[in-house]
Amino acid sequence: MPSTATAETLHGFEPYKEKKGEEYMNEEQQQHFRNLLLAWKAELMEEVDRTVTHLKDEAANFPDPADRASQEEEFSLELRTRDRERKLIKKIDATLELIEQDDYGFCEACGVEIGIRRLEARPTATLCVDCKTLAEIKEKQISG
Ligand SMILES: [Zn+2]
Repeated sequence: MPSTATAETLHGFEPYKEKKGEEYMNEEQQQHFRNLLLAWKAELMEEVDRTVTHLKDEAANFPDPADRASQEEEFSLELRTRDRERKLIKKIDATLELIEQDDYGFCEACGVEIGIRRLEARPTATLCVDCKTLAEIKEKQISG
């Protein structure tokens, strides 16, 4: 499944370089992830804006019912994507809140450090790799 915007596609963000003996989630690291999340959010909001404009423009341009049908299909696909993006924006907001509260970067299930590299790949991660894997296994069992 291709995702529209991941941390990797963020422009101008070098991976964080830890100094030797640096404390996990110190001020500098928090700032790094705050910037990353804000840039990601801005990118997503731009995409949402663009779609809304695009949908308004195109809706007027298809008087033919057949064209309209395929157009509507495309719209609903786009709307689903936007819906996903809106949820992601909410998640980013919640993550920014975690940084403000000094809770960012720790697994919400077991409390261990999630780790800089993992957060870089998934800035909104709230579980460590182990807990995430466990959660996915449970989810599979529930959904069959
Ligand atoms: Zn954990």
